[in-house]
Amino acid sequence: MAVKEIVQLGAECLRQVSQEVDNIDDVKGLIKDLKDTLATVDGIGLAAPQIAVNKRVIYINFGDGENEYVLVNPKVLKVSKKTHEDYEGCLSYVMHEGLVERPVKVKIEALNENGEKKVYEAEDLLARCFLHEIDHLEGIMYVDRASEMYELVDEEE
Ligand SMILES: [Zn+2]
Repeated sequence: MAVKEIVQLGAECLRQVSQEVDNIDDVKGLIKDLKDTLATVDGIGLAAPQIAVNKRVIYINFGDGENEYVLVNPKVLKVSKKTHEDYEGCLSYVMHEGLVERPVKVKIEALNENGEKKVYEAEDLLARCFLHEIDHLEGIMYVDRASEMYELVDEEE
């Protein structure tokens, strides 16, 4: 469909709770937009609110040929008691990073792009990515959870 503009922190749509998807066919175009848009930037995940659509749709692609997920109406089923802190960034807050504590493991369920219910168990970076993107659907930004924030320096200057 199209490459969309990724909205930045401060935009109202990043702070709204997104709506459940009733019919997978209604979001086929949105899924394509998320794929097209993520392909143009240096990132591993994009949630619909980041392209100004408040629907519960996420696209994740690590670019490793293995970790690619469309998550529609995702729900967190379980998180590990064990947590860890690591650096996170967000395409909606460029040139920043923050230290965020999250569960090491997570189990989620979601519909895939064919409307089939899938369960995923993830750990480490993928678990972090799932939780970061699901937060976007609740209007939560990682800056809300970060214990420390850093501004990045453009090394090309
Ligand atoms: Zn983000």
